[in-house]
Amino acid sequence: MLFPMKLDLLAIAAHRDDVELTCGGAVIKMVEAGHKVGVLDLTVGESGTRGSAALRRKESERASRVMGIHHRENLGLPDAGIEDRLDYKLKLAERIRILQPCAVILPYWEGRHPDHYIAGRIGYEACFLAGLAKLPLAGAPHRPRKIVYASLYVPALTPTFVVDITRQFEKKLKAVLCYGSQFSPRQDWQNLFPSRADCRERLAAQARHCGDMIGVRYGEPFVTREIAAVDDLVKMSVRSI
Ligand SMILES: [Zn+2]
Repeated sequence: MLFPMKLDLLAIAAHRDDVELTCGGAVIKMVEAGHKVGVLDLTVGESGTRGSAALRRKESERASRVMGIHHRENLGLPDAGIEDRLDYKLKLAERIRILQPCAVILPYWEGRHPDHYIAGRIGYEACFLAGLAKLPLAGAPHRPRKIVYASLYVPALTPTFVVDITRQFEKKLKAVLCYGSQFSPRQDWQNLFPSRADCRERLAAQARHCGDMIGVRYGEPFVTREIAAVDDLVKMSVRSI
């Protein structure tokens, strides 16, 4: 597909359920606000401990319908093998030129899983490369106006801002639960793959913790690198009082 999509927002992540887990509430909120929203997953999940790539594709299609997003695609990079390589960055930059997002959500650039933090790093560089006119890439040069980082996987971080997802939380949970292959049938609090009941509790606890930072019930945390420009101090968004 070579015609530009002119997305308002594009969320890029390493694995098929990462967007739902880390910023699904904000994505749903932007869809509900009338924005044109897309998701670009970097891998198909062929190396995941649970579920095949084909099953995870079906789960991801279901989750996309729940979130109501307008577009989703997969770059097909190796699962558990995302590397900081120029060919990967150029491949991603080409898609950014085609999708033409105004704003981009990336995974935070540090963390436990290499796929996550490398996705954040090559995502940033791909956004930059996409704007360079002389690079031999398909599509017209395009650079997103704003990049924000979803930081939920790095709980020790203090977010730059939190999005109130109180009204979107149930839909986010529903989207996450579409990934049935990633849940354990057993109740196991230590397990990386939680049961469905554990999943609700975990997501609610994370969202409640972040929500409390801005005085709402549920929230999702984000970090920015750039300093925000403020035009009107009186209308500036702050914690609810
Ligand atoms: Zn992941």
